[in-house]
Amino acid sequence: MRYIVDPDSRVGYGLLWCGACLCGITVSRVRAPDGAPTRALSDPEASAGVPDFVRVD
Ligand SMILES: [Zn+2]
Repeated sequence: MRYIVDPDSRVGYGLLWCGACLCGITVSRVRAPDGAPTRALSDPEASAGVPDFVRVD
């Protein structure tokens, strides 16, 4: 799971995908747990490395 959040509030959205079949979902309005790695909403590379998964939500 990739958290892409505001660095101050740690609120943003999450990308969750399955590496086996590349299906996935976008989870909006999540708060990244303390200690979880995050990327900043302002980072143009925030989704770098995330596979181009098919959204099933
Ligand atoms: Zn899957």
